[in-house]
Amino acid sequence: MSARDVIVNLRALAARTSDALGAQRVAWGPVWRDARRWLDGLLAEEGLHPEPDVAGNRWITVPGARPDTVIIGGHLDSVPNGGWLDGPLGVLAGVEALRRFRDRTPPVTLAVVDFADEEGARFSRSLLGSSGASGSLEPERVRSLIDRDGVRLEDALVENGVDVARMPEARWALDQRRPRAYLELHIEQGPVLEAMGRSTGVVIGAYGVERHVLRFVGQAAHSGSTPIAMRRDAFLAAAETALACREIARHYSTPAVGMVCTVGTVSVEPAIATAVPGVCEITLDQRALEADTLQRALADAHEAASRAAAANGVTVTWRHVWRIDPCRFDPRLVDLCAEAVHEATGHAPRLPSGPLHDAVEMARVMPAVMMFARSTNGLSHCKEEDTPEADLEVTIDAFLRLIDKTVAAVATE
Ligand SMILES: [Zn+2]
Repeated sequence: MSARDVIVNLRALAARTSDALGAQRVAWGPVWRDARRWLDGLLAEEGLHPEPDVAGNRWITVPGARPDTVIIGGHLDSVPNGGWLDGPLGVLAGVEALRRFRDRTPPVTLAVVDFADEEGARFSRSLLGSSGASGSLEPERVRSLIDRDGVRLEDALVENGVDVARMPEARWALDQRRPRAYLELHIEQGPVLEAMGRSTGVVIGAYGVERHVLRFVGQAAHSGSTPIAMRRDAFLAAAETALACREIARHYSTPAVGMVCTVGTVSVEPAIATAVPGVCEITLDQRALEADTLQRALADAHEAASRAAAANGVTVTWRHVWRIDPCRFDPRLVDLCAEAVHEATGHAPRLPSGPLHDAVEMARVMPAVMMFARSTNGLSHCKEEDTPEADLEVTIDAFLRLIDKTVAAVATE
């Protein structure tokens, strides 16, 4: 087995699918399709061939002595101007695991899945292929999403041979595989492992998300003539809410597991330097690993926004945008992952994932776990995305160990 080969392949894929601004493998587009053709070539050298499912995902299977299947996942798609590791690391580490069974039959079946459109970069809907495979996708809610050029999701998928209405049927095909465990190797995309001085982490789960738009309405007025005490400034109410949400996140964060609140966008009306803002809209994105923490933080944010609105003489209304429950990975697989990471690196730090991953969808169907490789400067979704090669090598080694341990555990079930 060679972690080195995985890195060589990752570099080759990046060279083929990146420009000066970074990786351009946006799902359903020509560069992404070219990345898949490149993978076809790599697999053909090993006598392996991917099979599509109705959700646009591709499966590479090595039949074992038993039909029970250990699944290894990742995605070749990237955000525009993305990095070289987010996604392909999981796929290519999985392919390396399959290569080791060229001359012998594994005790259980192994499958690598290249999920379609994990990023949601074009239509703002993440985990599209994997939610088809898990059956959680509701086609009616996504078919009319449009990209920047006005193209509908439904039409972009047809160009790639995928009928959005049928995507959830991929769950039936997944169930036929007798899925027993799902493993995913990914970069951390954050600064935690690097700050700890560790190469590799055991992922215990993924944050749930509550996302809302808050609209504060006061009264626009002249910035020169309106005394401070007589203003109904919608922006200040929003700003006080944002500061309160930082305190809410601090309040619910423990040394082991943080929670986060982010005000990522702000818009004011009339947006004139000489006018007190009469309207202000902000987005609030809250994430936590425990469902009750997330709900309490949301309730606290409601209270803080009402307080800030009252203090500024404005009103506030909430509009729900999106939510997903927190996901806890399988305790048994988390322990196997910790064993593997400890053997390879001498440590086994456990951490949650802030970003979402296909593993969250697969955890609906079968026991799942993820492993993280550290990210340089915590950066991802940009061309600076990187992991030192020595850390990548030891992490891939740990992941291959995890695959072996999981295969052995499933084989004796
Ligand atoms: Zn990813």
